[in-house]
Amino acid sequence: MLSTNEGCGLYLHVPFCETKCGYCDFFSVAVKDRDTAPLVARMLGELDGRLSGNPRRVRTIYCGGGTPTILPPAQLADLLQAIRRCVEMPAIEEFTVEANPATVDDEKGGMLKAAGVTRVSMGAQSFSSAELEALERIHSPEDIPPSVDVLRRCGIGQINLDLIFGVPGQTIESWRESLRRAIELEPDHICCYGLTYEPGTRLTAQLQHDRVIPCEEGLEADMYELTMDLLAEARFEQYEISAYAKPGCQCKHNLNYWRNGPYIGVGPSAAGCDGQRRYKNVSDVAGYVRAMDERNEAEADSEFIDTPMLMIEMIMMQLRLNEGLSIEAFRERCGAAPVALFGDALTRLVDLAAVEVGDHIALTRKGRLVANYVMAELAGACGDRDALPFVTG
Ligand code: SF4
Repeated sequence: MLSTNEGCGLYLHVPFCETKCGYCDFFSVAVKDRDTAPLVARMLGELDGRLSGNPRRVRTIYCGGGTPTILPPAQLADLLQAIRRCVEMPAIEEFTVEANPATVDDEKGGMLKAAGVTRVSMGAQSFSSAELEALERIHSPEDIPPSVDVLRRCGIGQINLDLIFGVPGQTIESWRESLRRAIELEPDHICCYGLTYEPGTRLTAQLQHDRVIPCEEGLEADMYELTMDLLAEARFEQYEISAYAKPGCQCKHNLNYWRNGPYIGVGPSAAGCDGQRRYKNVSDVAGYVRAMDERNEAEADSEFIDTPMLMIEMIMMQLRLNEGLSIEAFRERCGAAPVALFGDALTRLVDLAAVEVGDHIALTRKGRLVANYVMAELAGACGDRDALPFVTG
């Protein structure tokens, strides 16, 4: 069981974007002429309520979405100031805000810095205009370097760039070029995600109607291998399936998720978990406002985490990390010795050179290419392949 002395993460979900990207399955809506103020006001109420009754000390803050930096400056300032009031700022080890290229200027950058933001995660995605168009992103490659410059000028300590590979029409050379240009900007952290076709997105509908040709599986694997090689050459250490950091710049907030630590979620669609119970808020702007007004909370769903579910969650999250699944933590929290529990499934995976076993069970480089298979095999050995939890982040 988690102790209350353990710190926790705080996630805030701002669900507004300039437009909705074709591949996106996060809860976000195009801001258009919407008045964002009513939602922000209710988020301040939820923040206050969640933190005043919380026995754990918040150690990391992540304000994501959506595009938080799209909020009008006064609302962004209100949100940042409310966060500062609700946490003990000296205890905060990391404060991240997500931004998109061309959504930060000196005013907003200065506001982030003054509020104690230590890290900005920017959705660069690609340095190819054609790929950004295929993703229905509204920024251009030329918007990325000036946005990074603004953040640096304003004194933001760490910058992450998100990139996507496996985009329709992408070649190994164009991916190499995106990586090269990202490295050239000297960020502290880079995340490289393989494009996924999520149910209900426009991109998936295009795929179903043969209007898009997906990247061939072998090519996508080559892109992933190239990513690991080029970023290692540039002295970024891979510490998770998609995450690469300069020394000391790993994302502490995400590490807490991957190590199955507790977190509080605020805002529509945000999830929170104290180690025993998980909740998820309504994924609807008007519904969230209404719920906060009527009930002073906006949970749509909650569940208690029993031991079989915890086992699956630890496998799904900790195996993502290069350090792997902690045998001791698994034994302590689930009351079972993982090597014995995983039995033949683990032996097969070791024989395939997909995992290594020491004080952790960790994916090898080969195993990272088939991570979903490895996780399903180990989850299957716990008896339930289908009980996959909802996890924020
Ligand atoms: S900017 Fe990000 S959150 Fe917003 S629609 Fe695009 S992918 Fe989704």
